[in-house]
Amino acid sequence: MTTIDDVRPVARTASQVSLDVVLGPMKSGKSLTLISMLSPLQFTRVRHRVYQSERHVRDTGVTSRSGGELATTKVASLRAALDEQLDVVAVDEVHMFGLDDIRVVEQLLRRGTRVVLAGIDLDHRGELFATVRALLELGPDTVSYRRAVCDQCRDFSATHTQVLRAGEPFLEHLGGSEALPDDGTFTYEARCRSCFVRPGAGTASATTRG
Ligand SMILES: [Zn+2]
Repeated sequence: MTTIDDVRPVARTASQVSLDVVLGPMKSGKSLTLISMLSPLQFTRVRHRVYQSERHVRDTGVTSRSGGELATTKVASLRAALDEQLDVVAVDEVHMFGLDDIRVVEQLLRRGTRVVLAGIDLDHRGELFATVRALLELGPDTVSYRRAVCDQCRDFSATHTQVLRAGEPFLEHLGGSEALPDDGTFTYEARCRSCFVRPGAGTASATTRG
């Protein structure tokens, strides 16, 4: 008689190859989620590594405002993950990577590597980052959306990240995979849909009224 125990090893192998994605604006606790998912692994034999883009210059690891820290490897490209034998690959601030890196994620999944990614989904204009769009097109097993407290109205419903330059919303168009420098030129606010300022917001409301 076939029991659940007979099929479980196969089922487990298949279920281990998963793509889990954590998305949300600035200050929505994405890093804390990543820390809680990954930090127990350091006490296991699971081979894992957490990657961050070299362009992320503020922190030396994944840190959360609520405490906790993960050691990370800074890379220009996720291709580095293909050179190692890893069971789990995690990526923080995935929106800072490019479309080539999402192809790497695809290769890792084919290899049987579990991949966990966290990042900001919507850019400074309220549009999906090209990298995140490509990521969602891989058909993740889970996508969890985190919310933050709106820096304007203090409602716990911030979905967007407003980028400010000299205190004013920065709404200029950037190239496809171009991300903003993380060097202090810009400041960032988590904002709800109502408080978020979109490009052409003034003319859009005038059009609606007309
Ligand atoms: Zn608000």
